Formats: sequence, structure tokens, C-alpha cells
Amino acid sequence: MSRTHPELRTPPPLPDGGLRVIALGGLGEIGRNMTVFEHAGKLLIVDIGVLFPEEHQPGVDVILPDFTAIRDRLDDVVAIVLTHGHEDHIGGVPYLLRERADIPLVGSKLTLAFIDAKLKEHRIRPVTVEVSEGDRVDFGPFGLEFLAVNHSIPDALAVAIRTAAGLVLHTGDFKMDQFPLDRRITDLRGFARLGEEGVDLFLTDSTNAEVPGFTTSEGELVPAIEKVFRTAPRRVIVSSFASHVHRIQQVLDQAHAHGRKVAFVGRSMVRNMGIARDLGYLNVPDGLVVDMKVLEKLPANQVCLVCTGSQGEPMAALSRMANRDHVIRITEGDTVLLASSLIPGNENAIYRVINELTRWGANVVHKGNAKVHVSGHASVGELVYCYNLVQPRNVMPVHGEWRHLRANGDLAIRTGVHPKGVVIAEDGFAVDLLNGRVKISGKVPAGNVYVDGETVGGATEAHLKDRRNLAEEGVVTVVAIVDADTGMLAEPPDFLARGFAHDETTFDAVVPLIEKALAKAAEEGVGGATQLEQLIARAVGQWAHRRGRRSPMIIPIVIDA
Ligand SMILES: [Zn+2]
Repeated sequence: MSRTHPELRTPPPLPDGGLRVIALGGLGEIGRNMTVFEHAGKLLIVDIGVLFPEEHQPGVDVILPDFTAIRDRLDDVVAIVLTHGHEDHIGGVPYLLRERADIPLVGSKLTLAFIDAKLKEHRIRPVTVEVSEGDRVDFGPFGLEFLAVNHSIPDALAVAIRTAAGLVLHTGDFKMDQFPLDRRITDLRGFARLGEEGVDLFLTDSTNAEVPGFTTSEGELVPAIEKVFRTAPRRVIVSSFASHVHRIQQVLDQAHAHGRKVAFVGRSMVRNMGIARDLGYLNVPDGLVVDMKVLEKLPANQVCLVCTGSQGEPMAALSRMANRDHVIRITEGDTVLLASSLIPGNENAIYRVINELTRWGANVVHKGNAKVHVSGHASVGELVYCYNLVQPRNVMPVHGEWRHLRANGDLAIRTGVHPKGVVIAEDGFAVDLLNGRVKISGKVPAGNVYVDGETVGGATEAHLKDRRNLAEEGVVTVVAIVDADTGMLAEPPDFLARGFAHDETTFDAVVPLIEKALAKAAEEGVGGATQLEQLIARAVGQWAHRRGRRSPMIIPIVIDA
């Protein structure tokens, strides 16, 4: 397997007849999936997702891929293929379309409906090309063919890309549920047919490459969900992803069977379920789904609420219910069903929500105490099965942290793919397919672009460092009026502190140190306000560290008297 080359530089121009693959996101991380294919002077993009921030990225709403590497070549982009409607595959689309609005979006009916709703909020009217499994469409030098795959959202597609450089198969996110609710299974016959034709490069989902066996079927959740509805004494409140149409279908089926009415709560849940229902992906019996106002008048044991917030997101309905910040008040005897995964990194937030809900008297059913969730991604058994079926010449694991990519690459090798044909790349690596062989040819920028309120890319790593420092250490502002002639303090400085333990006399001790620093500066002829501010910041910083091992942010302001 190829190793990291820290000295990688900008890749040379792609040789004639070659295909270049650059992931601008999704490698070494779970989220913001984006892969750029270059061939014959044109670019094809597969997915543009977002990544959700972690605790060490305060104030960040979402993280985008860095578009720098393609910004000068947006006119060469022939299409954006969207494999499915999850945020980590479509969430970044509005931000690229802001830079060029008429790039065609290619995807299935449900995927396009989800992205369309999102683009409306950004006031963008996209050019869309709807495709379904079995379709073949050409965009410039790229011949695309779409294959059904099964995932935790309906209507997901894998894409085969035919070019003069070879045949690529990109699975997108997928698993191999043999009994999905919609009976639409991963097109293994299609995978095998492409294998016969000869797949030169296979990009495959690594999320569950460390999980042994086969991912269990969505249908196996029926007993646990049924039990909740059969035994709940009062209301049932279900929280799930607003895109998990099949999971919510199961909830609706059980609610219907047990004589409950359902209301959707939360903007994204209401919107997505409306879309899914209108397009025929969600089957809602007449009269089952009602308005909140109707639901409120029913006895508690006839009520089911379906809301967002299964990941403990602070603004979502469930967290707000847990915090008593929602019109829906959790009371003794309510049952809360978290019918979703627990995304790593969100554990603390989720357990906080579960604890609060329990404190208000709810019985909380979650994947830790009942079989109410199955993954949307292929486990080891399915991945190996696909390698044996496709028998690709080269493999590039995608969608995963480094350990997932590595595990997936190892699986490919165990099935007989030559180790030299397995390329473990990082975001920004240029992977060239030339004469049937893959090679890492360089690296383009692929850092994090932070969306912070209305600004995109304004916040940098340095800003986040400042925010963390502010959160952990507080801030001390020093206002010093300095006599321009003597270079000394004209009066005692003012101190303003936030988040830094202090009282009225705390800063008295630092004044002589500032005076000393200023005296030394005057002696050496150092006088500019900026230099004096640096001296003061250093003096206060050293004092804070000596005094209590603290490192507050220090903002010095020097005013000439
Ligand atoms: Zn997905």
C-alpha cells in the first residue's frame, strides 16, 4: 500500500490519456465527502458534503471542503454527481454553486428533491439532471452509469465512470441489506457485470471496514420498535435522522398498528418527510399523521411524536425537550425512542440528553439497551464480497478515518488485489490512473473551510485557537496611558478581565512589572505603541503564568498621553 509522502508538491499536469482523482474531503475523516475526477481537460465532481464541528472548533457551524484547487477551473466542471441525500454528501453544494450556479447536479429523484429544498434556502435555482439505476449519461469525456445501492436513505446510487483512461466504480455510501423495506437491493449483478468489463479503479465506502460480519437488515428492528409501541403507557417520542425515511416508515407502521397518531416536529423533519411522502418514498396511511394541535387533544397513549435531535444537537427538538426549552414537556411515563446511530464525538451530548429525559420521568430506549438501530454501511463481509465480485485492478478506499481506510485496503489485498494497486490517500492527494496503474502524483490544498454564521472561510485555525484559549483561560485587557515624552505610565493602568479569576487587588502586583518593562524600553529607545503593547502583553503574560499557571488572552492597549 502507498504510504504518506510529507514532501508531496503540487502535481504536474495530468499526462494525456490519464485520469486524476482528488478527494477534497472524506479521507481521514467521516464527513464532507467530495471527490474530483479530471480527464481530458474536464472535471467531474462526485458529492460535496459538509463535516460537523467538534468541541475543539467552537463557533463553527459546518466545515466545508476547500475549493481552492478547482476554483480557477470551475468552467471545466461538467457535472456534480450526488450519490445520495445525506448532508455529508450534499451539504456543501450550495457553497460551490454560489461560485458557479449552472453546474448540472446529477442524482436520483429523492436526492435532487433534498438538495433542491436546501438550495431554495440559499436562493439558488439549480440545473438538475434526474437519473435512476440503470441510466447511462455522458458528461464531456465522462460516461456515467448509475447502479442502485442500499443505504440508510432511499434512492442511493453508485456511479460507474467510463473514460479513455479506464473504468471507475464509486460505491458512494452503501451496504447490502437483502431485505430492505423498499425491496431495492444493491445491484450486485451490475457490480459483477462491471467486474467482467474490468474495473480499473474501485472507490469504496470504508466506514465499517473494521466491523466484522454483515450489517443486519433494517427489518430486524421490527421486534424492538414494536415492543416500544406495544408497551409504552403514555406518549411515544421518537428521535431519528430527518433523512432516515425507512426508519421513520417503521415507526409510522407501528404507530398505525397500535392506534396512535403521529406528528412530525422540527423543521428538517417536517420538510423531509413531506418531500418523501409527496414523492412516494414514505407510505403514510390516511389520517395517521396529524397536526400538533390535533395531537395535543388526544389521550397520551394515542400519541406519537417524531422529531430530530438524535445526536444531541443542542438546537434540535429533543435536546430542547430535555432542557425544558420546548413546548413539548416530557412527563412521567413518556417513552423516548432514539432510533439512530451514535456518531462518535457526540456521545457526551447524547448521554446528557438521555440523562435529562430520564430525570423528567421518561423511559429512554436507545441502541445501548435495545436493538433499535442498524448501520447504513457495509461491514467486512459485504466489502470482501464486493471485492471478490468486482475483482478491481486498483482500489482507493474512501469515506473514513485513516484506520478505516487502512482496514479497507487490507481487505482488498486479502482478496487478491495487488498491494501496489491499493492506494491509501489523504484529502488533497492527486491519485493518477495511467496505463492501468495508480500513482500518487502530488498534493493540492485540502484544509478545513469553516462556515461561521454568514461568513465562509473567514474563521481560520488561528481564530479557533483564540476561541479555545478564551474559553479555557479567559481574557485580560490592559489599558495603559503612556507619557509620550518619558515613555512611562501617565497613570495606573486599567485592567478588565473576563473568565480570569481576579478581585480588586489582583492586578496591583503586575503594575510594577509593567513599569519596569516600560523603563527598560525607554532606556533602549523603544517607543512605538505596537512595541510597547507587545512588552506589556509579555509582562502580564509572564506574571499570570508565574502566579497561577494561567495563560489568559491578553489584549494590551497603549494610549499616548
Ligand atoms: Zn450516507
